[in-house]
Amino acid sequence: MSRIFSGIQPSGELHVGNYLGAVKNWVELQSRFESYFCIVNYHAITAAYVPGDLRARTRDMAIGLLASGLDPNRCTVFIQSQVPEHTELAWIFNTLTPLGELERQTQFKDKSGRQEQVMAGLLNYPVLQAADILLYRADLVPVGEDQVQHLELSRVVARNWNARFSPDAPYFPEPQPKLSTTRRIVGLDGQAKMSKSIGNTIGILESPEAIWDKLRPAVTDPARQKKTDPGNPDKCPVIYQLHCAFSPAVTVAEVEVNCRGAKWGCIDCKKSLHSSVVAALAPIREAAADLQSKPDQVDEILASGADKARIEASATLRAVKEKMGLPDAR
Ligand code: SF4
Repeated sequence: MSRIFSGIQPSGELHVGNYLGAVKNWVELQSRFESYFCIVNYHAITAAYVPGDLRARTRDMAIGLLASGLDPNRCTVFIQSQVPEHTELAWIFNTLTPLGELERQTQFKDKSGRQEQVMAGLLNYPVLQAADILLYRADLVPVGEDQVQHLELSRVVARNWNARFSPDAPYFPEPQPKLSTTRRIVGLDGQAKMSKSIGNTIGILESPEAIWDKLRPAVTDPARQKKTDPGNPDKCPVIYQLHCAFSPAVTVAEVEVNCRGAKWGCIDCKKSLHSSVVAALAPIREAAADLQSKPDQVDEILASGADKARIEASATLRAVKEKMGLPDAR
């Protein structure tokens, strides 16, 4: 069975963009692949943070993932810092990664340009990402189209390491992208990707009232100034996209007809979407409330996930060190 690895930052409560763009897909993949899903808190500390907040956000992310349907009996869910092999392998890969490759990374150029003092962790972030994936010798990494470039460095690292230390029988597979079928989820402002830092998200655990407060002012097709103006769902990136993701096909067809024919107002359309979103997220909210009342159970699931991950991680690291002439303490 092929193996997949994917990571998510501990940004707290999952939002609809994370859910539709990644986690919903992971839930489907977990029964078809040997799956490792990691909350990447070592990546999170490359930006400014408050330790207590990070701890809470990590727990909330774990609850969101489990409530969304990641099943610890079918996949391995764990926290990166509980598997120290990630950083050990990252150091090894740092010694094989040309500086130029790291400086060329789009994400580094974007983020470092906004910082007064750039820390080495930001530059080396993709090396840790490569270690995350290669530690489990993953064949596939579920990604959106905009993330394919990030995976390329992991492939370069695998290739460089294999060429130097395992030329006859490559030890690391070059991980391939497993493209998500979901398009990038646009934020409620219609301008950018849904992102917590921009504040244009809907949290998957938000109350029906809070969700309505966010949907009501969301942008729509600008051609619809009055209820009698015909619209075009393709020019309504937020509401129509969310209808396609959450509403049954018959409702989506109704949106098409009612929008193009000016048979309802945008508020009617949003009310219909609100019902669909609330109904789809209700079981997740319920499961999350149950997990929130059992924090010890959540910690136990994460600790077991880390134990399971370490079996594979330590075997990889042992083999890597053996081939590199580095004695292992284990
Ligand atoms: S009717 Fe619906 S799909 Fe059409 S512009 Fe308004 S909100 Fe968007």
